Amino acid sequence: MAPNGVVIAVDGPAAAGKGTLARRLAQALGLPYLDTGLLYRAVGRRVLDAGADPRDATAAEAAARALAPADLDRADLRGPMADMAASAVAAIPAVRAALLDFQRRFGAEHGAVLDGRDIGTVVFPAARVKLFVTASVEERARRRFLELRGRGVAADPAQVAAEIRDRDAQDANRPIAPLRPAADAVTLDTTALDAEAAFAAAMAVVRDRLAAKG
Ligand code: C5P
Repeated sequence: MAPNGVVIAVDGPAAAGKGTLARRLAQALGLPYLDTGLLYRAVGRRVLDAGADPRDATAAEAAARALAPADLDRADLRGPMADMAASAVAAIPAVRAALLDFQRRFGAEHGAVLDGRDIGTVVFPAARVKLFVTASVEERARRRFLELRGRGVAADPAQVAAEIRDRDAQDANRPIAPLRPAADAVTLDTTALDAEAAFAAAMAVVRDRLAAKG
């Protein structure tokens, strides 16, 4: 149903269910999908591997410029350390600049569903459809805890919640591309929705937006 070339921006805070939702939207609409958080995660991981501090702008920019496709396939891009390293490198303007072109080329080629923090505000400010997916901190922490447990990773619920709060604060308060809904984004609060209901609600927004402008 989506015409070729449509860009759908799915932004929101950590563990709000953006990835699951964006992947399903892409599949249903026959569009390519890009998890842009993975780019920042891979940069953070490269900096950690080099023994540098993810807040070090020189080291982080070098890592962003050296990023290769295989970096995105690594198995160690998730977990508390990788989460915070990603958020730290993401606050560095030169890192964002290095990753911007790739994201724009990806979306411009055939259209795409992209999920992240600044897709609707910075990467594709003219996207036809913009969703801001959120949920209460408690619910996001619960989901992240279950996800970690499902992967066999031991976690403490209180610590998971604290990490989510810290990362939200860091992403929302940075001067460059802060986490916030675009003025023309539709906010989808998934606190009380399961994956199926969130997908149905998102599809309704997509249909509405494409019909309105198309
Ligand atoms: O979405 P995910 O949790 O994988 O993103 C990891 C980190 O990457 C975020 O906390 C955020 O700091 C950064 N990020 C970003 N802009 C994006 C996607 C992710 O700043 N478009």
